[in-house]
Amino acid sequence: MDKLIYLDNAATTQTAPEVLDAMIPYFTEYYGNPSAVYSFAGEAKKAVENARRTLAAGIGAKPEEIYFTGGGSESDNWALKASAEAYAAKGKHIITTKIEHHAILHTAEYLEKSGFEVTYLEVDENGFVSPEAVEAAIRPGTILISVMMANNEIGTVEPVREIGAVARKHGILFHTDAVQAFGHLPIDVEAMNIDLLSASAHKLNGPKGVGFLYIRQGLKLRAFLHGGAQERRRRAGTHNTPGIVGFGKAAEMALQSMERRTAYETELRDYLIGRVLTEIPYTRLNGDREKRLPGNASFCFRFIEGESLLILLDQSGICASSGSACTSGSLDPSHVLLAIGLPHETAHGSLRISLSGKTTREEIDFTVDRIKEIVERLRNMSPLYEDFVKKSAGENREV
Ligand SMILES: *Cc1c(COP(=O)(O)O)cnc(C)c1O
Repeated sequence: MDKLIYLDNAATTQTAPEVLDAMIPYFTEYYGNPSAVYSFAGEAKKAVENARRTLAAGIGAKPEEIYFTGGGSESDNWALKASAEAYAAKGKHIITTKIEHHAILHTAEYLEKSGFEVTYLEVDENGFVSPEAVEAAIRPGTILISVMMANNEIGTVEPVREIGAVARKHGILFHTDAVQAFGHLPIDVEAMNIDLLSASAHKLNGPKGVGFLYIRQGLKLRAFLHGGAQERRRRAGTHNTPGIVGFGKAAEMALQSMERRTAYETELRDYLIGRVLTEIPYTRLNGDREKRLPGNASFCFRFIEGESLLILLDQSGICASSGSACTSGSLDPSHVLLAIGLPHETAHGSLRISLSGKTTREEIDFTVDRIKEIVERLRNMSPLYEDFVKKSAGENREV
């Protein structure tokens, strides 16, 4: 196969051609500033408000509760920093988890430096956060709970509805990073008791650099960027009209196709998992077998380095990841894999494959065949593996 096989859709996705087509007129024809008064700018303004309505409907919110941002990281930063500031008089304790994206973890660490206390909840071996553990961590000064909807590395889908109910019962603000979930899993901010929610366009075939933060009506959170009066004075800056239009179009397509597409991805994912686990020994699946993102398969292969596997897959035109784009290039194993209890050596041998609705069975077969070959080749060069095989004589095939 000479063609590129793109299996890193959790890192980013291809902008859908329909999305690009929808965006182009807002560069070429309707380039007016949506905040201007003349009627020429009206087209741009209308398009921004259309996108806002589509996105709001996608999570069961009102259009006025959607605030456009520059992506998921900005939404996460805004949610945490502004809630901390707004409720500091009530208390200085925040609850989150050990498996959040760095946009949450590093923001929480920043807040710790300015006097907030943060509880980082443990997860179980499948990556689940327990609603009981969330409740047990609540104390008089707790002002915010932030738990992601689905994990970007291991794919585990968290019991957000139950955690939302705990937050509501105690009158505490609940934020969820839904960047991996939006467009891939059904979301209802009312049923799930969500007060704040982060989403990003480029994880659902929209453009990069645009996202939103849902802020429940009535919450008094400060502006993230100061300047113009855009986004009800809470996020200054000329609207990224083409990006917002693209986000709206991507969401419309993702929501319409969700059932069919996720059923297809789930079947292909399970086929992939089945082949890898049965054909490659000393391999484990990370994350829950059932409650996982439709397109996510995360593995650890013992006795190899994930980075070496990625480089050799790349030579066959296959794009995958060792877990998170943010930890690539660093030698530290993933914080998520350590949080689910894997030893460092096992965590180093990780591979995340993330599918799209366009991934084919042929691509998966080709990829599994390559993984098999490469893992065997790398293991045959590993002194650790040699020792292990001699000792166990191949009896124990468990990780
Ligand atoms: C990708 C991702 C982000 C960051 O979103 P950007 O739009 O790339 O800033 C945040 N959280 C999760 C769970 C993600 O997967």
